[in-house]
Amino acid sequence: MEIHYDPQLVEETVFQELARRERLEDLDLVRRFRSESDAIYDSHGVGQREREFDRLHQTFFRLLGLDFSVRAILTEFAGIEDKIATVLIGKAFTERDEVAELSLDCRNVGVKIRPRRFLDRPVLLRQMRHELMHVSDMLAEEFAYTYEGSLQVSSPMEESIVRDRYGLIWDIHVDGRLARQGKDTVLGRDGRAREFGAVYAKIPAPQREAIFANLWQAESLTHHDILGMAHDVREVLARAGDALDDTAHEKILLSGSPCPLCRFPTYTWTEDLREQLPKDTLKLIQEDYPGWEPEEAACERCLEAYAVHAQQ
Ligand SMILES: [Zn+2]
Ligand SMILES: [Zn+2]
Repeated sequence: MEIHYDPQLVEETVFQELARRERLEDLDLVRRFRSESDAIYDSHGVGQREREFDRLHQTFFRLLGLDFSVRAILTEFAGIEDKIATVLIGKAFTERDEVAELSLDCRNVGVKIRPRRFLDRPVLLRQMRHELMHVSDMLAEEFAYTYEGSLQVSSPMEESIVRDRYGLIWDIHVDGRLARQGKDTVLGRDGRAREFGAVYAKIPAPQREAIFANLWQAESLTHHDILGMAHDVREVLARAGDALDDTAHEKILLSGSPCPLCRFPTYTWTEDLREQLPKDTLKLIQEDYPGWEPEEAACERCLEAYAVHAQQ
């Protein structure tokens, strides 16, 4: 397995690390870099300089120990070392860009990291470990990862909700296992529980905590399990186990729950229908769905259709 670093990432990281050492008056490598850099100016023409500088930056990237973290973390993932031909480390511009990806043929891994991460080794180690755990899942047969180019959803908003939830649940699964292995990761139990609570705020606390505990402790969720939960909140609620009994019949209007009329996952609920809905529309719905009460709510599409129908 080969590890390649993007030259721009290498250059920026080397300069930032040299500047840091200069501030600490740790000058050995700073002086050596300057003299080797001057030598390139003196002995190469403009055309050749760029290649020589790239080589100089690569050399100092190693001398400064900046290649340590990636190599160290890769040794924790035997599955990746065996299956992957190349790991390409690229430059991320924002925190959101800092992700790992697997090529479609599953032979190459790309990881993007911001240059300044390299200056803080414990942080970089945690970040790399978390990202490579995602990659390791993607490569594991049991996880059964498939690339989902397009999801079965009806709007870009639903798509982004499903993708965000998928990411959230997968992150919980990644960090839960790492924590049990006694390894440092990007966010611990409390931090992930807060993220989960923010997204599933409408689930009452006792059930939400039971669901979170179930996900955090899970040893082997699959791609299919996680995607199912991301699409359908009933699959999330099913993980509450015994805690669900108390409020099993309580109506929880979560985005992604099925509309009681058309059964499609619903992302925008119209509430207070008892007050909001014209009487003739209400009557039409109850003719079609005799057991339905306005407190159960309905999706926008159904309400529009019945509103149109009522005017005819
Ligand atoms: Zn993650
Ligand atoms: Zn509906």
